[in-house]
Amino acid sequence: MGDWLRSTAAELADALAAGETTSVEVTRAYLDRIAAVDPAVHAFLHVDADGALAQAAASDERRAAGTLLSPLDGVPIAVKDVLTTAGLPTTCGSRILEGWVPPYDATVVRRLREAGLPILGKTNMDEFAMGSSTEHSAYGPTHNPWDLDRIPGGSGGGSAAAVAAFEAPLAIGTDTGGSIRQPGAVTGTVGVKPTYGGVSRYGLVALANSLDQAGPVTRTVLDAALLHEVIGGHDPLDSTSIDQPLPALVEAARQGATGDLSGLRIGVVTELSATGGQGGWQSGVMSRFQESVDLLVEAGAEVVEVSCPTFVHALATYYLILPAEASSNLAKFDAMRYGLRVWPEEGASAEDVMRATRDAGFGDEVKRRIILGTYALSSGYYDAYYGQAQKVRTLIARDFDAAFEKADVLVSPTAPTTAFRLGEKLDDPIAMYLNDLATIPANLAGVPGISVPSGLADEDGLPTGFQVLAPALADDRLYRVGAALEAALTARWGGPLLDRAPALEGGAA
Ligand code: GLN
Repeated sequence: MGDWLRSTAAELADALAAGETTSVEVTRAYLDRIAAVDPAVHAFLHVDADGALAQAAASDERRAAGTLLSPLDGVPIAVKDVLTTAGLPTTCGSRILEGWVPPYDATVVRRLREAGLPILGKTNMDEFAMGSSTEHSAYGPTHNPWDLDRIPGGSGGGSAAAVAAFEAPLAIGTDTGGSIRQPGAVTGTVGVKPTYGGVSRYGLVALANSLDQAGPVTRTVLDAALLHEVIGGHDPLDSTSIDQPLPALVEAARQGATGDLSGLRIGVVTELSATGGQGGWQSGVMSRFQESVDLLVEAGAEVVEVSCPTFVHALATYYLILPAEASSNLAKFDAMRYGLRVWPEEGASAEDVMRATRDAGFGDEVKRRIILGTYALSSGYYDAYYGQAQKVRTLIARDFDAAFEKADVLVSPTAPTTAFRLGEKLDDPIAMYLNDLATIPANLAGVPGISVPSGLADEDGLPTGFQVLAPALADDRLYRVGAALEAALTARWGGPLLDRAPALEGGAA
């Protein structure tokens, strides 16, 4: 493995600034790593080697001329295949978009380009971001770098696995119900879902508009803050974008890393853990969680128990609102405008073509949710299901408001278990949905959340994550607490957790 692969993005930025390496050298090291391990990991759907190297060369020229675009200029990145990239395929993990090349960049992608980050390629995902394991990708699953027989989480398993397998120092994910945070937890990486409206959704192919947010997938909390500052902030092209400056995220991460959390109140949410929640919480996940809470107390934080009784309805609420929005969003894939077109027979009507295309182009999970969503929105059922779910959503937001009166941040384990085996939950949608028990409330309320690696579960030696949630627009608190926890844990481990991932040593496992 080349020298630069294990460096964090912040370290790469420093090495570039010190003239110790070049963006071309770093980018080439990552492309070589992708060529070596991605046949086994399958984090990428598309690698743009030529494009990335050209962007890296341009960055090196800017550096020589003293016209750098941002602190991350020259540091390469991978992008989840749900964000449009001009001139590069965007499939959303679906057959229906196979071969589609968007004519425009998503705002997040444009900001990456404007900040000078070479784009390595597009990462694998569950079809249209529906899933928790990447097994719903039409192009085959991604494998967890900790154990290639296990899932890397989802829907953004490709972005998380790319970062965990040292195929990219940074990646972009999207989180509608946990798709940045849960893959982070099960791969030992950091994932952030920003405040709703904090990062533009323009060019993010919508799963559920009122829940979707793009955010950073990284190896450290500081890297996430650096990336968040590049992609965040107001965008007139997204009507739900918040017209307000971002808080000082990098500063918060640096402050947190000093390890002083005195004066901070941390709320442990009863309903998001083994004590008061639903679902099967793995004991190794709970013990790592408790240890992390103890470390935060050692750093000076005060811990309070908070109860959010409506959170037990979050999953049911989400699985009405999400399919409703998704069924409407996916209606645009009609065989006329984008991607795949299937002609069932000569002289087929437009409707026949549409039916045949949608039948061949969408996978089972997508069809399941379209059916659920159209049902929940149909006249006669709308009030009973969709309308009711919206009311519960309001109650969940109120529970957050009340909890944030008692605590500055809320914490829980990110996901109830470590990575399960590929195939284990594929035929049981409800078991799959339960992975997002602890992450979904944040999406329903629009508040930001981070998942930070909290160690390895004793039973299976696999990574588990610690979730921190903050009030809307207080994303800086995630970075302060996340960096403090990371500093304490890294000191205890004697180095980064990812250094212990067995499947990665010496290249392809
Ligand atoms: N796993 C959740 C789902 O299947 C979340 C997906 C997401 O965040 N994109 O809907």
